[in-house]
Amino acid sequence: MLENTERTELNTLGEFGLIKHLTQFIEIKNESTIKGIGDDAAVIDYKGKQTVISTDMLVEGVHFDLAYVPLKHLGFKAVSVNLSDIYAMNATPKQITVSFAISNRFSVEAMEELYAGMMMACKKHNVDIVGGDTTTAKSGLVISITAIGEANADDLVYRNGAKEGDLLCVTGDLGAAYVGLQLLEREKQIYLESPGVQPDLGGNDYILERQLKPEARIDIPVLLKKLDVKPTSMIDISDGLASEILHICTQSSVGCNLFEEKIPIDPSTYNMAREFNMDPTICALNGGEDYELLFTIDQSDFPKIKANPDISVIGHMTRNSDGVNLITKGGTSHTLTAQGWDSMKRDV
Ligand code: ADP
Ligand code: MG
Repeated sequence: MLENTERTELNTLGEFGLIKHLTQFIEIKNESTIKGIGDDAAVIDYKGKQTVISTDMLVEGVHFDLAYVPLKHLGFKAVSVNLSDIYAMNATPKQITVSFAISNRFSVEAMEELYAGMMMACKKHNVDIVGGDTTTAKSGLVISITAIGEANADDLVYRNGAKEGDLLCVTGDLGAAYVGLQLLEREKQIYLESPGVQPDLGGNDYILERQLKPEARIDIPVLLKKLDVKPTSMIDISDGLASEILHICTQSSVGCNLFEEKIPIDPSTYNMAREFNMDPTICALNGGEDYELLFTIDQSDFPKIKANPDISVIGHMTRNSDGVNLITKGGTSHTLTAQGWDSMKRDV
């Protein structure tokens, strides 16, 4: 999908030249960044706060397909999904390191695009790029990003703190990134079969953006603080609602009742799921890549969040022995599995 007409081979710059070229416009924004790019290691000082660290790796052909993902979007997404993990700890990201393995299939211009997307996300989240590693790969592209953040020890929220009676809450809406991916895959298939046909992506901006340019919820730790709510547990939704609920339940030793009718699904997600003959609820439960935050709160905090349009209460935590259940719109209860629920077949 490279639109650039110019192509500069990577070997014209060499490794050090490439690093210098890509990082030349990086300006340090955070006081905690003592030393950024340029030495053997970065130096960070959080002055008594706790340090939160998370790493993700993205492999071409496994996690992304450059047939329909523009490199700028890929860079933005690679950073955003890492920062999402930091927000899921109720912490604030401050620095990232960025490592690439690149084959000579990629040009300098292509790497510039990728870097531009990463820097866009860093700007949005006020994060410094403080280092990385750049190496050659035989084929393809691998990106590994490590995000580093800070929090007061008292503010950190883990996956294991949910208690019986807590309310289960989720931000935003779910399933859109998954149906967006289905749409991109469909149009890619049509293109491969008849290259003359232009992709028909019109009118689907929301679901496409959710897939290609996900936004990590920078606003939620701030909002929770403002509302004076500290979740008892929290996780970000990368693999799908069902899988993340199971993580919280397992680590907190509690059960859960999740109510299908409460799961927030955007109308455009709903309609596109139907177009693909899929159950919108399944898309929300299993689709993943939503990068919304899933958390539990004490019941006494309900009045503080109930009027908030960004937060939906979708269930409550029960005794461990009651299991993890989806209560469907029809009122029946099914054991929730990471693949959805125990009887997946339902007319759509
Ligand atoms: P070393 O040989 O000590 O590992 P490098 O030559 O790999 O050092 O890197 C030099 C500097 O550039 C280091 O500060 C490193 O963190 C930084 N760096 C390398 N690759 C990248 C990259 N892709 N993005 C940002 N910084 C990078
Ligand atoms: Mg190195």
